[in-house]
Amino acid sequence: MGLKNLIENLEDAVRYEMDEEENASEVTPETLEQVRRAFKDAPRRPAVKGDTLQRVTEEVAACTLCDLHTWRTKTVPGQGAANAEIFFIGEGPGADEDRQGIAFIGRAGQLLTKMIQAMGLTRDEVFIGNIVKCRPPSNRTPHPDEMHACMPYLKRQIALIKPKVIVALGSTAAKGLLDVSTGITKLRGNWRSFEGIDLMPTFHPAYLLRNPSAKHEAWADLKAVLKRLGRTPPPVRKRKGR
Ligand code: URA
Ligand code: SF4
Repeated sequence: MGLKNLIENLEDAVRYEMDEEENASEVTPETLEQVRRAFKDAPRRPAVKGDTLQRVTEEVAACTLCDLHTWRTKTVPGQGAANAEIFFIGEGPGADEDRQGIAFIGRAGQLLTKMIQAMGLTRDEVFIGNIVKCRPPSNRTPHPDEMHACMPYLKRQIALIKPKVIVALGSTAAKGLLDVSTGITKLRGNWRSFEGIDLMPTFHPAYLLRNPSAKHEAWADLKAVLKRLGRTPPPVRKRKGR
């Protein structure tokens, strides 16, 4: 029996026990939560049969599950290669993204593009998305209930794409994915796991625009990602005037 089946059976067994009146006191919701936590790094469940990225995109376009839908111009489901090895996950669409329906195309997005190119890749070879698919008003941080409502779409995308590595860009993405309150400065550079997939937290490109001195740490994180994928960054081209 695979680990996945084992976990599912275990969860079912615990749930069954909870339904049985006489055993209700022995198996509490806390126990079930402990089981979940113990196995939270286990291999994720495969995509639901028949699900597609296109279907996720269409459902997102019609979604009204959280308040963010009331302010959006366009939904921003995320885009890139269906078989990407790396899935970059940011916080949420900004004004440019909301207007065009494409993730990371504003100033932060342009820096992300450069970071991807420095890794020897193109935007088309990776997948780029966000924790929430609709723009929060005035670019405020998405609320926990909004991230929670939107999470199933992201999970389905991850299950379909099966990336080898997830890069969480910034505190909000890292906290939303890892369910921790630790800030990005502490989290970054250390491998974590989401749905059984290696996850590297690093700085958000918008933060790097404000704090360029943190770029070398972000680059160290991206090099660690390349190493895990068995890739090496392309040779550094000398910039003019340096
Ligand atoms: N653009 C995005 O798509 N996501 C962010 O987190 C920031 C800018
Ligand atoms: Fe739906 Fe996500 Fe948009 Fe909220 S942010 S309305 S959950 S697609």
